Amino acid sequence: MRFQIITIFPDIFSSYFGESILKRAQEKKVIEFKIHNLRDWTSDNHKTVDDAPYGGGAGMLMKIEPLYKALKDINKKSAKIKTAKRKVILLSASGKKWNQKMAQKYSKFEEIVFVCGRYEGVDARIKKFIDEEISIGEYVLTGGELPTMVMIDSITRLLPGVLGNKMSTIEESHSEEGLAEYPQYTRPEIFIADGKKYPTPKILLSGDHKKIAEWRKKQQKEIK
Ligand code: SAM
Repeated sequence: MRFQIITIFPDIFSSYFGESILKRAQEKKVIEFKIHNLRDWTSDNHKTVDDAPYGGGAGMLMKIEPLYKALKDINKKSAKIKTAKRKVILLSASGKKWNQKMAQKYSKFEEIVFVCGRYEGVDARIKKFIDEEISIGEYVLTGGELPTMVMIDSITRLLPGVLGNKMSTIEESHSEEGLAEYPQYTRPEIFIADGKKYPTPKILLSGDHKKIAEWRKKQQKEIK
C-alpha cells in the first residue's frame, strides 16, 4: 500500500514513521510513503501557498492552484492504479468521522493520497478534486498532518504481515463495532501498592483456554 502526503511541513512525519510498527512495515515493503512539499508546485519566488479569504474573515486559506497542480502530477504518476483501489482524501475538521470500520475498508486500497490543510483551511474548490473529506474527531487541530498519521497508523496495523500475531487486530477494541477489548494483565501476579493488593483474576492463571475465552467475552464492554 502506498501513502502519498501533500503538506507544507514534510519533516513532521519522519520521527513517527521512523519508529516501531510503521518502520518495520516499510522495511517489509508492506507500505511505502511519498511525502510531497506543496511549495514545490508554487511558481513565485516566495513559494506562496496561502492567501486571504474573499469576503474577509480571520486568517489565511490554502490556495487552490498549487494543490491542483500537485494532485494532477501525483494522479498522473498513479494512472495505472484502478480508481476503485485509490482514494484522495482531504483532512478536514468537518469531514466524515474516521473509525475502525473505515480503517478496515481503507486497508483494502492500493494507494491513498492525503491533502493536509493548514491555516484556516483550504479554498473550497478543492472539493472538486478529492474523493472524500475526513475528520479524526470533533475538535480543531492546527493542521492535517496529525490526522494523516492517525489514519495511516490505524490502516497499517490491519495490513497482512504487519503485526506479529494475526489475532491482535481481531481481538482489539472496535474490531467488533461498539465493543472494547477485554481487560488484560501481565506480571506480577499480585501487584502491591501502598499496602493494598491488586491481584490478577484467577481464571487467567487457570490454563483453561475455553474458560478464559468465555470470561474474556463476558468482560468485553460496550463503548458508549
Ligand atoms: N477553519 C477550519 C474549520 O473551522 O473547520 C479549521 C482549520 S484547521 C486550523 C487547519 C487544518 O487542520 C484543516 O484544514 C484540516 O486539514 C486540519 N484539521 C484540523 N482539525 C482536524 C480534524 N479534527 N480532523 C482532520 N483534520 C483536521
